[in-house]
Amino acid sequence: MGHNHRGRAAAAGVAVTVERAAWLRAAASALEHAAGELVPLAARETRLPELPRLHAELDRTAFQLRLFGHTLTDGEFLCATVDHADPHWEMGARPDLRRMVVPIGPVLVFAAGNFPFALSVAGHDTAAALAAGCPVVVKAHPGHPELSVRTGEILVDALTWAGAPPNIVAVICETEAGVAALRHEEIAAASFTGSVAGGRALFDIAAARPRPIPFYGELGSLNPVLVTPGAVRARGPEIAAGYVSSFTLGAGQFCTKPGLLLLPEGHGLTGTLRAAVAATHGQPMLDDRIAEGYHATLAGLRDDPATEVISAPDAVADTVEPTLLRVTADEFVAAAPQLRTECFGPSSLIVEYTDTTSIHRVLAALEPALTATIHAEDTEYDTIRPLLPTLTRLAGRLVWNGWPTGITLTWAQQHGGPYPATTTTSMGPAAIDRVLRPVAWQEFPDALLPPALRDANPWDLLRRIDGKR
Ligand code: NAP
Repeated sequence: MGHNHRGRAAAAGVAVTVERAAWLRAAASALEHAAGELVPLAARETRLPELPRLHAELDRTAFQLRLFGHTLTDGEFLCATVDHADPHWEMGARPDLRRMVVPIGPVLVFAAGNFPFALSVAGHDTAAALAAGCPVVVKAHPGHPELSVRTGEILVDALTWAGAPPNIVAVICETEAGVAALRHEEIAAASFTGSVAGGRALFDIAAARPRPIPFYGELGSLNPVLVTPGAVRARGPEIAAGYVSSFTLGAGQFCTKPGLLLLPEGHGLTGTLRAAVAATHGQPMLDDRIAEGYHATLAGLRDDPATEVISAPDAVADTVEPTLLRVTADEFVAAAPQLRTECFGPSSLIVEYTDTTSIHRVLAALEPALTATIHAEDTEYDTIRPLLPTLTRLAGRLVWNGWPTGITLTWAQQHGGPYPATTTTSMGPAAIDRVLRPVAWQEFPDALLPPALRDANPWDLLRRIDGKR
């Protein structure tokens, strides 16, 4: 008989998954060991600074690999579930049924341009797929081709040294190769970080295959921030400074950049915001294509008759200027389609509201986002509570009195929101579920069941047995 207490799960060892955890740890150590080579290469190809940014991102990437390894060790991700045969089951006699997840199959990862380590060849989606037991094909991002190839070599060496099959990761380059891989019948799932247009085109290819496959795209997001009158009164200048530093961080090239700030009419923070923007340093963008995209989208926002530029310092050579624009809530609602477009770079739009009704109208005009942030005082819960259903429908992560940039990796993390923010995705251990597929075994002889589902529970897993944990 199986038993449903956790016991000595990690010590007993979930053999196969413990082995995979060791591969991931080896990969993490190899990346750290190669930092002296990889970080300067990344800096040359992406224009991102080595310190603190690229070193910190490499550390995050190593942590990520180890965290996914750690996720495997207690076997909980297997969702092992046992329902014994029951002749008295209310809807009629039921057979013995046992369910757990298995790897979905080879995963194609379209690496991101803005995170050359953490969302690239050895990055988040690769770590999730390897942890799940899936081989990976990475389509390198054209913004850092040499880094992608070299990271791939280091990753494959480390994985095979640790005992993984030799071809468990492959790196491919060029648009056509990515599309051909996406159409390849052996690819079972794909993940992507990039533009809405690119993600949508690839999503449609994945869906139009003779055998459609899941496509997990992280696309574009405006990430609204709502500031209440009470918060402006209590700490307006602090909020203004935090907002400017969040939307200009990394030259605004983060999917979680706050692209829209809802402020009460008469907030009196324009001078503070202008000064905070003027105090920022110009930063280069990842590459000329991204810079051109930024300037084109920004020009559209600036030229819109509804907007007013309230702060736009001159750019120094090879850098881009942070830009702050303003619009009233009524103008925003009327012009929403063109104003709610993500502008990938250091710009943001302030929307000035008059009352709660006007906040509701702005929120109703927004597209779904990765995050929604609220700055409010503890005395304002009654103002905020009625907005929460709308904000929850709009976003995948709700932030209270903080900023959306900076995504910690932990079990409860959710990085994703309804389309067009994503086509369903998550960051952190929960992402492993995307590349696993549930299978049920009906009336199987115990000896032919996977160990996780056998009566003796040889891996000592926490299992749901006959509906109970
Ligand atoms: P992208 O143009 O969407 O490209 C991302 C990846 O998808 C690249 O490997 C690209 O390959 C491939 N791809 C895109 N469209 C394709 C198509 N139709 N057929 C085949 N492959 C395709 O994104 P990006 O270059 O990283 O940045 C461009 C824009 O994406 C930015 O300006 C920004 O708006 C957005 N972005 C968003 C995030 C986010 O986290 N949400 C991150 C980065 C960028 P090739 O280039 O080799 O064809």
